[in-house]
Formats: sequence, C-alpha cells, structure tokens
Amino acid sequence: MRDIKRISVRGKRVLVRVDFNVPISNGIVQDDTRVRATLPTIKYLIKNGAIVILMSHLGRPKGKVKKELSLEPVAKVLSNLINQKVKFVSDCIGNNVKSVINESREGDVILLENLRFHPEEKENDAEFSQKLSELGDIYINDAFGTAHRKHSSTYGVAKFFKEKAPGFLLMKEIEMLSQIRDNPAHPFTVILGGAKISTKLGVMKNFLNKADKLIIGGGMAFNFFKSQGIEVGKSLIEEDKIEDSKDIMRKASKENITFLLPVDIMIAKEFKNDTEKKVVSKDKMEKGWMGLDIGPITSRIFEEAIKGSKTIFWNGPMGVFEMENFREGTEIIGKAVSDETNKGAFSVVGGGDTISCLNLLRIDKISHISTGGGASLKFLAGETLPGIEALEEK
Ligand code: AMP
Repeated sequence: MRDIKRISVRGKRVLVRVDFNVPISNGIVQDDTRVRATLPTIKYLIKNGAIVILMSHLGRPKGKVKKELSLEPVAKVLSNLINQKVKFVSDCIGNNVKSVINESREGDVILLENLRFHPEEKENDAEFSQKLSELGDIYINDAFGTAHRKHSSTYGVAKFFKEKAPGFLLMKEIEMLSQIRDNPAHPFTVILGGAKISTKLGVMKNFLNKADKLIIGGGMAFNFFKSQGIEVGKSLIEEDKIEDSKDIMRKASKENITFLLPVDIMIAKEFKNDTEKKVVSKDKMEKGWMGLDIGPITSRIFEEAIKGSKTIFWNGPMGVFEMENFREGTEIIGKAVSDETNKGAFSVVGGGDTISCLNLLRIDKISHISTGGGASLKFLAGETLPGIEALEEK
C-alpha cells in the first residue's frame, strides 16, 4: 500500500471514505469518538491543500432516504472540531455534488450524504462505484470499521484510482492489530465474551496455537457448556455452533493453551435488571433460569489468569454489562486488563460493545482501542479485508 505522505494532494480532489456511523438522537450526535478518530487524516489533507471530500454510511437505511439517518448533524460536529465550515451536500453522487466540489478551493471540506441511501452502495454496484470515483482524483480509505465490507465506497470505487492509500487511522489499526496477530509478546492472553460466538470462532481458531491463555465469558460460554451436555436453562445459545464449540475444546486440549471457562455463573429468572438472581456452580443451572454474568469465583480466576500477561486481546463483555446487576464480572476483568497495561502489557480492545463498556466503567488505560468490532475480529482471524485489499498496489 502506498503511504499517504508520498502522494501530492495540493489542489487535488481527495475522496475519503470515513466511518461516521455515530449514534444520533433527535438530530444530535451522542458520541463523536469516530469523528475524532479521523481528524489526523482530515487535518493533514487540509494542511496540505487538498479539497477534502468525505463519504460515510450511517445506520441501516436499507437503500432509502431516511431523514433521521442523515449525516447533516455530523457536518456540524466536524465543523466545530476543525474550526472551519464543512459543506454538507444532500446526496453522494450526481451533478449537484460535482458542482459543489468544482466551486471548492484548497483546504475546503465537503461531507456527502449517507452512502446507504442508495441500495447500490451495499451491492458494490459497478456503475455506482464509478459515479463515486468521478468525484475525486485521489482515494483514501480511513474507515477501518467498514473495512470488512465489500461495498462500493470501500471496495468497488478503489479500482478507478491510480493514486490511493490508507488514512492514518486505518494505518494505525493495521499496525496495532498486526502486532497482535503476527508478533505477540508472550504470555499472550485472549479474552472473549459477548453474545455471538459465531463472530468469534475465526479468532479463536487462529489463536489456539498462538495464545497462551484463552478466557471465555459472556453469553458465548453457554455454547461450550451445552456442547459438554451441561444444562444451560434459558441462557443464550447459537444452536448451529455447538459442534464448532466442541471442536474448539478438542483442539484446545491438544494445543499447549490454558483454556478457561466460567466455573460459577450469576443466573437470573428473567432478562432484566430487577429480577430474582443467584450465583450457582456452572453445572447447577436451573431450568427456566438464564446466566447473565460470570460468578465471583470465576472473576477471581480470570483476574489471576490475566496477571503477568505481556499481550492481551479482549473482545466482548463477560455478562450483560448494560444492566447494573450483571456488570461486575466485566468490571473486574476490565480493571485487570487496564492494571496489566499499566504494568507494561500491550493491550488491544476491539468491538463496539466492549468500547461502550470501557466508557461506562471509565477504563481508559488500554494500549489500543480498535474502532472496528467485526473488522478487527476478521483481521485477527487472518482474513483478508476487502477495504485493505482494494488499496494494495498489484
Ligand atoms: P457481541 O456483539 O457478541 O460482543 O455481544 C455483546 C453483547 O453481549 C452485549 O450487549 C451484552 O449484553 C451481551 N451479553 C454478554 N453476556 C451475555 C449473557 N450471558 N447473556 C446474554 N447476553 C449477553
């Protein structure tokens, strides 16, 4: 891939794919983390005299114009952050967009409307990709969060450009995640939790012979229990992944890896904060109950296991952290990860939910917080991400 700094951008129209998929409520941006994350690239382009054309998706409009999913509120936020006007255009292709760009000067910033208002974006439609490409002379992708998607703006558009490169955010993500994937310092501890085991199978398989410890909590742990014939009550299960769970446990026992599952669980009568709850041993689940957090003995075991790590990757909470009564496990593990980081471990946390839990629990001592959940999991599973592949010069 080319280095953005080796491309002459002055006076050129630079089309930048960013990830401005931020939470918006009543027209107000609730969290601007993703906008801030792209500032190094945007500021660099402004400083070097480019005409900066930003494009992004927001939410799931399903190919239709939805006013509540307009990117217009983001233009205001960005404008405040860079201290200059951001021109917002109410479409992402067409003559109106082109004339706004043509009237622009060096250092101007333009934000296009939500790409996904056009169904062709997600279909990676060739004609739509070409129309996007007509807007710029140079293509930059800085949207790590969507790099695992083969869409027009992340993939199809790239082949129309001779000059293309990753932005600073994308480069940093690749650098940090490659260190974990290819060259982790040992002991290397991988902590996985959350609801969907299906999204984490690839990472587990890839790390079975690289990590020293694999720690599993959250709803996904119940797939492993079920695969061993342990009663799981009404706990979260992905039925079609039971065989995979069995397979992982089989492989883990062959590899020289410490594979840790919960030994006790906080179970609940109903899926809500104020409900009857109690701690039971993992094999004493009661029918009609569900596991919503790891138990206190498990928290201590996991905490001990994390101590002394030199590299840590964490994705997915240990329980339903959104509910106060089922947050403790995640809190203890989060603190253990940040304590080890303080002692010099290299820690990477990925995934939207894990990031919200860091914010909620005020855990900030982490070496790298990845902006992409799905993208980081696929990258670490060893998959080629279309958004990165499209930037490679053959
Ligand atoms: P994921 O996107 O797969 O990382 O899942 C994150 C979600 O998993 C969070 O919203 C948690 O509330 C949820 N989660 C974690 N543990 C459990 C559990 N034991 N039962 C149900 N949901 C859970």
